[in-house]
Amino acid sequence: MPKKLKVLMCASEAVPFAKTGGLADVMGSLPQALEELGLEIKLVLPKYKSPQITSDLVVIGKNISVHFIENDKFFLRDALYGDKNGDYPDNLERFSFFCRSTLELIKKINFKPDIIHVHDWQAALVPIYLKTIFKDDPFFKRIKTIFTVHNLGYQGLFPKEQLPKSGLSWDIFTVEGLEFYDKINLLKGGLIFSDFITTVSPTYSKEIQTKEFGYGLEGLLQKRKNNLFGIVNGIDYAVWNPQTDTKIFKAYSADTLEDKYVNKEKLQEEVKLSKAKNSALIGMISRLVDHKGFDLIIEVIDQILKLDTQLILLASGEPKYHTFFENLAKKYKKNASINLKYDALLAQKIYAASDIFLMPSKYEPCGLGQLIALKYGSIPVVRATGGLKDTIIDFDSDCKKGNGFVFEEYNSPALLKTVKRALDSYHNKKTWKQLVRQAMGYNYSWGASAREYVKLYQKLIGLK
Ligand code: ADP
Repeated sequence: MPKKLKVLMCASEAVPFAKTGGLADVMGSLPQALEELGLEIKLVLPKYKSPQITSDLVVIGKNISVHFIENDKFFLRDALYGDKNGDYPDNLERFSFFCRSTLELIKKINFKPDIIHVHDWQAALVPIYLKTIFKDDPFFKRIKTIFTVHNLGYQGLFPKEQLPKSGLSWDIFTVEGLEFYDKINLLKGGLIFSDFITTVSPTYSKEIQTKEFGYGLEGLLQKRKNNLFGIVNGIDYAVWNPQTDTKIFKAYSADTLEDKYVNKEKLQEEVKLSKAKNSALIGMISRLVDHKGFDLIIEVIDQILKLDTQLILLASGEPKYHTFFENLAKKYKKNASINLKYDALLAQKIYAASDIFLMPSKYEPCGLGQLIALKYGSIPVVRATGGLKDTIIDFDSDCKKGNGFVFEEYNSPALLKTVKRALDSYHNKKTWKQLVRQAMGYNYSWGASAREYVKLYQKLIGLK
């Protein structure tokens, strides 16, 4: 590389500091993978009430400084975006402050990146501010921006009356600007004002240009399609590796699969499932929201549990699903373990113990669950959408190719049929062992994806 590329990453969450979903995993790994490739990276996050954050500046990787934007009134709260009453009503003010402070910070410390790479609606005001409030400031003149959409379903919508809180003037509130059905839409602003847009898988980058997945933004995305790219997320195998994982009951590899079954037995014991060695243990770890496919699960879970299977669910989210699964737990005491909470340790144990990992999403921008499951030899059963389609290849029991089971149509008979297909293979010990080994051998580490980001960065700064 002729010149050391400088990139500022800006996001609202990153492992190990704060996490509500996959965005945090990406932000915890991608900066370091880019540093490995010789880039200079800095990361900016809000300073939340999180035990890991004790100072305003932390170093991760070799030399990535993480700067925290501090404002106790805005960020010292129990959760990141909202509580049981819904989203915090001052989210526009909170993330306007975050984005504006990010730009002021880099000016103050005199860090002039080639690219500012921002993630999701919470950081979308950075490219918006650069092209409005800060457009005449020479410090920012040459800086390019990339906006990564991790999930188009979360747009940062606010009543228009709140616009003054963002510091932007009313002339931005038009159809060509931030206006969206009479509301402010920050994600839309990010899509318009950033130089390049990326999403987290090639398939999702195409899907969001259609009416079905575009949430009303498909027209805008089609218009920007020449500057819209899909790069699949990786996972950090330093964290997700059954061979070195100290949090699971017993470490194992593709060559010591009998130890994977020790994990199954111990977890069954811990969560009080019957110790059925030959029943397929189906794991699900997810946010309980509509797009993860829980409406299909509700329709067929009884039938699945009648097929000599066990379910272990770790999930939290919408109350309607909590109620459903609380009832299910009462009905299937011995073969359903329902854990309605967020629990990173239990998640790790489930990846290690389960035989099958279920992700029947309606849409899935990338999905990390299926990638982690592969590494732990838990075979993904997924719907062919977004990143699930790009990473899971349907297993063909004749030629023994593939790493999971995939269905196309979003309906419960298709899901049930595919679970049955997976169970058929599961009950053929030799076939299953081969499949598990094969799945564990897939490499979805960050290296390849980080190289794609670097290519994109280079393309972007080559632009006049
Ligand atoms: P999304 O970002 O849409 O939530 P992903 O599959 O991209 O979905 O990432 C989800 C991440 O969060 C995975 O690392 C998964 O293991 C983790 N996760 C989801 N729900 C829980 C939970 N209840 N407890 C622990 N980890 C969870």
